[in-house]
Amino acid sequence: MPQCNAAPEYRIEYDAASFIGGVGNLAHMGPMIHSGALVLFSGGQDSAVCLAWALTRFSRVETVGFDYGQRHGVELEARQTVRAAIAAAFPDWAARLGEDHLLDMRGFGAVAESALTADRAIEMTETGLPSTFVPGRNLAFLVYAAALADRRGLKALVGGMCETDYSGYPDCRRDTLEAMLQALNLGMAQDFSLETPLMALTKAETWGLAKSLGGEALVEIVRTDSHTCYRGERGALHAWGHGCGTCPACELRARGWEEWVAEGRP
Ligand code: ZN
Repeated sequence: MPQCNAAPEYRIEYDAASFIGGVGNLAHMGPMIHSGALVLFSGGQDSAVCLAWALTRFSRVETVGFDYGQRHGVELEARQTVRAAIAAAFPDWAARLGEDHLLDMRGFGAVAESALTADRAIEMTETGLPSTFVPGRNLAFLVYAAALADRRGLKALVGGMCETDYSGYPDCRRDTLEAMLQALNLGMAQDFSLETPLMALTKAETWGLAKSLGGEALVEIVRTDSHTCYRGERGALHAWGHGCGTCPACELRARGWEEWVAEGRP
């Protein structure tokens, strides 16, 4: 069973094993938190599952997306598709789903140019980081998200950061996020929590979490409506969803799906 080595101010209230073992039973998740959450929501697989997770736990859930000059607007479209599909399929969740916000961060994107925002091949660089790494991206997102949460009266920030699959992304690491949360709370005189329900999960386990939260209906929404492909391709619907099938994001998503299916879709 994964253990959370959380500092007191860093609440990871999530235990992967209890979720994966608790298909269809939300009683173990504890009482609803009667406060608001802001989900960092890109329209991808991870943030779609995070949105569903937040909707089971918080009485009010708003979403925030970031336009930082991505090559493609496909993922920004996917945000609205996923939100609408979740609201249509889960009326209880629809009642808690609040506003969506899209923040213009193209100025940041221009500074932190990478393969996602510029016309560069997707490859490993001499620094040991993939060319898709945007320096400081999650840190910048969190600053903007926290400022918005402050204004909206929301106390929890929810993000799909995960250190199991993306160990090459230093801003997804637990240590980084703990330090960031401390800086945000000190610098904004706040008491935000940062919830990262996927932190210790593999991509296969993330599919399992989707099933435990919303059954096959949620799995199908995540599979068909969320967007992960770095190249911005929708293309054919593969077993694991839409995408080019060859970029690192598609490969990771496909591998996770195949592992989950091989395990019997737990
Ligand atoms: Zn792709």
